[in-house]
Formats: sequence, C-alpha cells, structure tokens
Amino acid sequence: MGRFQMRCRPAAPPGCWLVLAAFLGGLMDGRALAQVEHVAAEPAKTASVRIVFVGDVMLGRAPGEAIARGEDPFADLAAILKDADLTVGNLECVVATCGEPVPKPVNLRAGPACIPLLQRYFSAVSVANNHSGDYGPEALVEQLALLESAKVPYFGGGRNRKEAHRPLILERNGLRVALLGYNDVIPPSFEAGEDRPGTAWLRPADVIAAIKAAREVDHADLVIPVPHWGVENKPRPEEYQRVLARRMIDAGADAVIGGHAHVTQTVELYKGRPIVYSLGNFVFDWRIPGPPMVSWIVRLTLSKLEPPQMETFVATVDRTDGFPRLSLKPKK
Ligand SMILES: [Zn+2]
Repeated sequence: MGRFQMRCRPAAPPGCWLVLAAFLGGLMDGRALAQVEHVAAEPAKTASVRIVFVGDVMLGRAPGEAIARGEDPFADLAAILKDADLTVGNLECVVATCGEPVPKPVNLRAGPACIPLLQRYFSAVSVANNHSGDYGPEALVEQLALLESAKVPYFGGGRNRKEAHRPLILERNGLRVALLGYNDVIPPSFEAGEDRPGTAWLRPADVIAAIKAAREVDHADLVIPVPHWGVENKPRPEEYQRVLARRMIDAGADAVIGGHAHVTQTVELYKGRPIVYSLGNFVFDWRIPGPPMVSWIVRLTLSKLEPPQMETFVATVDRTDGFPRLSLKPKK
C-alpha cells in the first residue's frame, strides 16, 4: 500500500463562502426535497468531517460468486473503510433478482446477498452510472427498495427525474454534507424521466444549479459532486471534464470525485479544491489478463473554515476475483 497526502490551500480567505453564498442562485422550480439523514451533532464551528471515497464497486460475476460463498471482498480494506465519518462508493451494477439484460455489451447484476456488506461498510452509494439500468427499470426499482430497507442511502438515481437529481444530505459532527451523483456514459436511455426510473444525467447547467441549491436551499456546509464520466482505460481526463470540474468548484463544490474509466487518472488542485477525475475500480473482476489494477481510496478531511486535506491510499485489484488488496502477496 502506498499513501500520499495533499494539503490544499484556500484560494480565498476563510469566510468568503458566506459572502459568496449571498450571490448564489435561487430555488429550482419543482426540485425534489433532499434526502436527509441526521446523526448526533456537535457544534459546527470547529468541526471537521472525514470522508472516504472508493471507485467502482461491482458485486456481480466473480465477486458475487465469492459473496455467495461467504467471502468478503472488502475485508482487506476494512480498516480504511471504517476509519471515517462517511464512506462513499459507486455501485457499478444493479442489485436485483428481476429484470432482463438490456441490449448492450456488458450487463452487470448482483444478488441481494451483497446488501449486508454495503450496509456494513458504506454510508452511501452512488447509483449514477452506466450499469444501474442494465436489467431495466424494474430491476433498478428493486435495487432502490433493497437499499432503502437496508438503510443504505443512495444518490444519483431514483424512481423519477426529481428523485434522481435530489442531493443526499448526510450530517456528521454538526456538518451537513451534500452528495450529488451524475452520469454521462452511454446509454442515455438510463436517464431518469418524468415518470421513468433512472439516473441523473450529467448536464453542466443542472450540476451548477444543484451545487448552488445544495448550499442555498439545503444549507449544506460541504458539497461534493460525484460524476461518472470520461473515457475507459485512458490515463487522463478529457478536456470537457477538466472544464466542467473547474466550473463545479467555481460554483461552490468543495471537491470533485469522479470515476468510470476503470483506471486512475490525474488529480488536480483548483482554487485549493481537489479534483480526482477517476478513482479506478475498487471491486471489479476483469476478464482480460494483465497485472493487478490500481485503485485509489481517497480520504478527505473537510471543515467549514480550514482548507481541505486529501490523503490517497493505493490498493491493487486482483483481476480474477475482483477483490482490492492493500499490497500484492506473492502467489505460491
Ligand atoms: Zn462505469
């Protein structure tokens, strides 16, 4: 395991958020109420919140078979996943028993046996990705119900467009953290409609308005967009991602934590705020032989007045079983 740490300097003096907030945009008409989960609060003035983000969590195929045998794909990383106020991942499959694979090259579905593991390790999961619709809207609705009954909060998807776009607000240590999930990876048919279950599509105007509304309307202290975007297996982000990520920070995001490429990409500091374009896979088997895949686990420490701190843990993901591990162990 490797680890590096980045201290981010604020581009503006503390307190400027309060001034800036006064100029931020207004209510979005018809906006769904945020989902809010409260946990015992303490005074927010000096409080900080530690959030761990991991990349794509795919619990079907080989990881799913292992879970059915009673194995735990997260075991090797358990200490890092647990040592946080919030732990967030991208659920890169649909968790359901129903539905039929829709026409596309790869369809990923996990069985409900993975739900207790999500419950154990994650404070929230994003469902805004290019696999949550793999078995049709009926399967997605089953997944949402499974997550709800297990009290695993989710964001970036829902039973209709309003639900899909609503922020998830999690409160820890007196700080309100808004998580916003978006996907722009095809197929576009996975996008939620007025009355159709699906994901929140990544459109710059919507994202910028949502970041501002999270602060203005939902009174979030911290706002983190989690975009699922970019091109698979490329080591660098596309220009549109770089432009949009900076716009998100300009609009008030405290960090941007992206994924989808299956590989890690670059990290950027913009106005003292970290932009991680792709965390890589976290739990994912891979049928093409090759060396273990690299996975970043990012831990952000955020507060209202101090600049964000970011630590990155590096794990490797075994292509055969799809499990992340802290270090490579020689095979006998
Ligand atoms: Zn993806």
